[in-house]
Amino acid sequence: MQQADEAFVLRTQPLGDADLIISFLARSHGCVRGVARSGRRSRKRFGGLLEPMTHVEATWSVKSGRELHRIERLEARRSYAAMQADPALQAVCAVMAEIGEAFGAEGAADDREFRLFGAVLDALEGGAEPLLLLRYFEFWTLRLHGLLGDPEDCAACGSSIPRGRARALFPEDGFRCDNCARGSDDSATRLTRDEALWMERLQRTPPGRLPAASGAAKAGGRLERLFRSRLEAFSERRFRSYRHVRNLTGGAR
Ligand SMILES: [Zn+2]
Repeated sequence: MQQADEAFVLRTQPLGDADLIISFLARSHGCVRGVARSGRRSRKRFGGLLEPMTHVEATWSVKSGRELHRIERLEARRSYAAMQADPALQAVCAVMAEIGEAFGAEGAADDREFRLFGAVLDALEGGAEPLLLLRYFEFWTLRLHGLLGDPEDCAACGSSIPRGRARALFPEDGFRCDNCARGSDDSATRLTRDEALWMERLQRTPPGRLPAASGAAKAGGRLERLFRSRLEAFSERRFRSYRHVRNLTGGAR
């Protein structure tokens, strides 16, 4: 049975001398992995489309009961290769691809997740801060998978939290208001006012319109550690591609 869907290419790996394993996030099919026969040689079928994050129209044959399908064809819808000549953008795309592969299960398509990729890629191309966009991507990956609550609603009492007043972030249920954070146990992560404000901005603001982060989104900073530790705990793996963003300063380009 053949399937066709629009997709973002996440990763390619060589398989033998001629073939390639390609992973992509398909809009209506989730994360799909397949073998492109002669993918390393056939420029006609795959040339220029295998850069990470290329937006493609993919056609593949489903092999039932098999983890790897057969990829028949990729056609370009949009390339994000040119912007990845910038090492900062390339690094951010590598982390997005690794997280996307870990969180996207085949058959578990989520249109919001697919649109998250497109929105962040467009904002990256539009010149917004790469590290801030990575924080946005992490935040919304956690939100869409139910691993992070709404920073504007207290998870304990249900009341809405006034601006900048989210006080604690719990491992299980998310954010709490001033009152409910008081006397809370050790498992809570205390948020500063600045961190609480950033959570709200990530919740409310489209990625291309986020204000300058001035250090809040920096590599190895609190926001990164908060989000990354949750992503890694849930997926039970370490995301090795973070080493590429370690040395980025994160300022506007
Ligand atoms: Zn409360």
